[in-house]
Amino acid sequence: MKTSVSFILLFLLSISIDSIIVDAECWERPNPLKPFEKKISSVCGLQKKTKGKLTADVGKESQKDEINSLAAKEAFKFDFSCGVPDKVLCTKAENAFKAAGEIIANVIILVTPITVNATFTDFCKALNECDGTILGAASAARTIPLLDDDKVVRQYPQALAKQFLLDPTPKWGPFDIQAFFNAQADLFFKGDGVIKKNQFDFEYIILHELIHGLGFASAWNNYFSEQPVALTPDPNFLESITDLNQPVKFTGFEETAFDKYMINTRDKGAPKRMTEFTNEINSFAEIGTDFPSVQALLNTFADSKQFQTSSQLILDGQTPKTMAFQPRNVSSNDMVFLETNLKPFRVGSSISHVDIKSFNNDPDFLEVFNAKPGQTLEQVLKATGGKYPIGPKLKSVLETLGYATKENPNPYRPTLSNDSMSTPSNLPIGKATNDQSTSSATSLTFSFNILSLLVILAATLSF
Ligand SMILES: [Zn+2]
Repeated sequence: MKTSVSFILLFLLSISIDSIIVDAECWERPNPLKPFEKKISSVCGLQKKTKGKLTADVGKESQKDEINSLAAKEAFKFDFSCGVPDKVLCTKAENAFKAAGEIIANVIILVTPITVNATFTDFCKALNECDGTILGAASAARTIPLLDDDKVVRQYPQALAKQFLLDPTPKWGPFDIQAFFNAQADLFFKGDGVIKKNQFDFEYIILHELIHGLGFASAWNNYFSEQPVALTPDPNFLESITDLNQPVKFTGFEETAFDKYMINTRDKGAPKRMTEFTNEINSFAEIGTDFPSVQALLNTFADSKQFQTSSQLILDGQTPKTMAFQPRNVSSNDMVFLETNLKPFRVGSSISHVDIKSFNNDPDFLEVFNAKPGQTLEQVLKATGGKYPIGPKLKSVLETLGYATKENPNPYRPTLSNDSMSTPSNLPIGKATNDQSTSSATSLTFSFNILSLLVILAATLSF
């Protein structure tokens, strides 16, 4: 399985010279079914400033374009490829994409179109995913590092970053969202009549997945073992690694935009921001430490007291109502609990979804991990008493991440950063302590087995 890892570092050194402000790494995730197969983007950085080159008129024109919000029909651009010969089916699928895009664009105000690389194909033939349980998957095609107001750099999905109209403008990749959907699944399309017992409403699936691509995605995951062992944010410092004996520089575990608002409610009386845990975990070694090998880094981590924190967190990730997203400007009663019911922890389903017990029969059903066979989106909406597929809590999550809405036209915005690492100034310097070693039986082997890291953001939408 080792050979299946083909992280490419070719372009690391060619980060362009005008990337003075954004010099942290951007990540490309070409395959949403395997989002861990991300690679450092070749074009991270800033677009050259155009001032002085454009005529005044052109400048005005582009400014005018930027501040206009887009009509719902214009807000999403789907680059649709259909991998099956049935043209009627292809047309139905493409129309479902458009409809899902409009549902989202009726709620959030977009000023820059969101581009989706949408593929509808036979997963077994195209991706060798033949067990038939994966209906679809989507993820941000690219994430870029931005500086949050708590002085932490986090990875933002390009779809969201584009709405901030940052100046100067970061370099964008061609797509904001990568989406694959399985043409072999038993799908229901609008106009098909009555949905059958085992069918899934395709528009519903797309909508669920696009929301992940917009940023409903945590970096907190079980990265180091097939068994639930340690919950950490993304160990991006391991991405270019192909061999455990390779030397590695520890640059810190990295959060996504979503993680800024995640809280841990293990201690009901004193909820704690997950970022506090990130800082703690990141202090197991000094940021920038060179380790002689990946295994040495993992051993040091496994022997550290900070590892005990991540071990507790993976238990929290399997304990109902211990993790939540806290939207801005709401009371703690309005926390959006995340999926921590699954035991064992399930990569791809745990955390990056809403708590199924709280939301399965609630107007905010859309982001539960399990799809509902035999029910159309309209039927689910009616059954849950919802008014719109994007429920009020999901809307507040999107607003909190930074999407504008009619009711919240000036959302929070992060800024460009010249800080490539999320190293809070007061970060305690971790010692590579051997004296703490608790002969932990856990040996970490950052697993190169791709099966151990199935689909961080995909809806495995199992039956
Ligand atoms: Zn999902």
